[in-house]
Amino acid sequence: MTDQFKKEIDSALELINSYNNIYICSHIQPDGDSLGSIMALAMAIKKLKNKANINVIKVDDIPSVFDFLPNIDIIKEQDLSQEVELFIALDSSDKERLGIGAEFLCKAKAVINIDHHITNENFGDVNIVLPSSGSTCEIVYKLIKYMGIEMDKDIATCLYTGINTDTGRFMYSNTTYETHIIAAELIKTGIDTSDINISIYQNRTIERTRLLLESLNQLELYEDGKIGLVVVTQDMLEKTGAGMEDTEGIISFVMDINTIEAACLLKEVSNKEIKVSLRSKKYVNVSKIATKFGGGGHVRAAGFTIIGEQIDTAKEMILKEIFKNIR
Ligand code: AMP
Ligand code: MN
Ligand code: MN
Repeated sequence: MTDQFKKEIDSALELINSYNNIYICSHIQPDGDSLGSIMALAMAIKKLKNKANINVIKVDDIPSVFDFLPNIDIIKEQDLSQEVELFIALDSSDKERLGIGAEFLCKAKAVINIDHHITNENFGDVNIVLPSSGSTCEIVYKLIKYMGIEMDKDIATCLYTGINTDTGRFMYSNTTYETHIIAAELIKTGIDTSDINISIYQNRTIERTRLLLESLNQLELYEDGKIGLVVVTQDMLEKTGAGMEDTEGIISFVMDINTIEAACLLKEVSNKEIKVSLRSKKYVNVSKIATKFGGGGHVRAAGFTIIGEQIDTAKEMILKEIFKNIR
């Protein structure tokens, strides 16, 4: 732990100790890391300060795959008219990604920003931003340990889920020696990793499976197969009976192709709103590309949204940028 990191944690602890009305929040389009980190931190602070009023803000629909997480129902829509003293943002690179949460943030007396995105805008009064960390859950683990809060199975299940999903089941290049040490410590609490893994990965509905097949069937390859692109249109959702949240995971099938360096998934949220996911294998910095389009993320996984263009135009715009970065 570096001195700078300790200093930031001490400042965060001071804020947590001085305020009672605490709001915890993460990004829209929630994933395992955002959900795992907010729930783990909420449960941990409750152990530290039993009397504290801890509110976990629901900013978006939660994919049903995460229903197995213990105490998932603590994530609720919150009342903006209540007093907000301390606001803690997790796994969110900027305020806009917090959705309705940003309005609670604006009201807060103090803001703690905990994240691992390289594009984080350091919008907090205290910023615990570690881009070298594979997940926000790993940072929360360190925080809990530093605060001397005892780890329990519920907290460990949430943290393990976030670490597991954000590192692509401990496979992506953001997986470090420390990732495995932390995972081992979490497993030591007696959590059922087999159960967790079945819930997350062997739980695909038939509609989601059909969407996966439909989209991969229309895979486009460019630059000798170094670039792979798939789209999910509203028509495809209708045809398969799947929802937009069922696009999760499609891009990793494109990444698995041997020739691929960069993969792109375009989701037609509406006629003029295209959500884009980017991934790379070895050298393309997709965070740089996403930043050009007003988004952000990590070097090997990033995203953004294009508003006001139809899917074909959006595709041309993005491909042009990816071409510039392919060797
Ligand atoms: P996704 O492709 O949605 O799974 O996102 C990949 C990574 O990029 C995640 O770490 C996201 O947090 C990040 N990301 C996606 N969309 C945005 C955005 N509009 N702004 C900032 N970061 C994003
Ligand atoms: Mn996330
Ligand atoms: Mn994350």
